[in-house]
Amino acid sequence: MKIKKIDLFELHLPYSGGEYGLSGGRIFTGFDSIIVRLTADDGTEGWGESTPFGPNYIAAHARGARAGIEEIAPHLIGRDPREGDRINDAMDNALLDHNHAKTAIDVACWDLFGKSVGLPVYTLLGGTTGKRLPTISSIYAGTPEDMRARVAKHRATGYMGHSVKVGALDSEGGPALDAERIAAAMADRQPGEYYLVDANGGLIPETALRMLRALPKGLDFVLEAPCATWRETISLRQRCNVPIILDELAQEDGDIAKLVALDVADGIGLKISKAGGLTHARRHRDLCRAAGLTISVQDTVGSVLSAASIFHMGATVPERMLRCVLDPRDMVTVETGSFDAPIENGGVMPPNKPGLGVTMNLDLLGAPETSWEE
Ligand SMILES: [Mg+2]
Repeated sequence: MKIKKIDLFELHLPYSGGEYGLSGGRIFTGFDSIIVRLTADDGTEGWGESTPFGPNYIAAHARGARAGIEEIAPHLIGRDPREGDRINDAMDNALLDHNHAKTAIDVACWDLFGKSVGLPVYTLLGGTTGKRLPTISSIYAGTPEDMRARVAKHRATGYMGHSVKVGALDSEGGPALDAERIAAAMADRQPGEYYLVDANGGLIPETALRMLRALPKGLDFVLEAPCATWRETISLRQRCNVPIILDELAQEDGDIAKLVALDVADGIGLKISKAGGLTHARRHRDLCRAAGLTISVQDTVGSVLSAASIFHMGATVPERMLRCVLDPRDMVTVETGSFDAPIENGGVMPPNKPGLGVTMNLDLLGAPETSWEE
């Protein structure tokens, strides 16, 4: 089997909640998305998506992803899409880094592989645990009472986990406001719920320690991405007893090895696009499993293809290591395709269909921006 044609689509995904606020005053109202269609020589198609969380979340942006695909695509025509490691070698030889560009192609290869053998992607990744995957909400930084209300709203629709965003500058209310946000978001906590407090690298050890000291005793949460650098995170790690997971700092394979070697954290936010696709995500999963680290399977953001890649990967993580999955579908207003994976009984399951199990909305996508063909 050979890749015969690569099509690149672009579209904009408006944020469903109006304005999304992150630490450092970052505001997002929508996300530019890249979608790739691979067509094999026997006519089988595979689809992949990459949607960066704006240009100032990590070192990735949609125009960069597009430019990266333009560098990579000519080197992939004629290659076997089922050989994911070799496809990734070819992508790395054509372009260093740029994980978001590689993700759309890598995920499309897995989708195509699954369809070509009539198996779901989760089977190719090692097999599903058969458990419902607990979904996590994304509670952007706001007033404490507003955040409490948004947690309640998500709880009512079946979410078992909540990612509470913090990281106020002193001029915005600082660590005292962040402590109030956490306490309010957790005020109505139900049994079995899981809380992440995510600063997106917006704290330094000093502000993180002040925030933790200002909290009521006994709150059960995990601190995600407290600091922007390894040095700051290691310093905080040595001076607090709250479990820490990394997100923005854990991107490359080597970052996971470094995390384990230095014992910097207790888990990772495994975002498919941040890792460079499902091939690298699989490696991160296995490193975490070997080291006893928890995994929250997420993506930077995205539509149905992003949700599908998250759920297929999440289904392969043993229950005791898997904390939650993100359902990005509820973060955007555009449905780029149909995907039969409803949230029920506190979780989701990927469909037992070949590939990712997504049917794309071709009318919505329109004509490709660019195509490469044998
Ligand atoms: Mg995060």
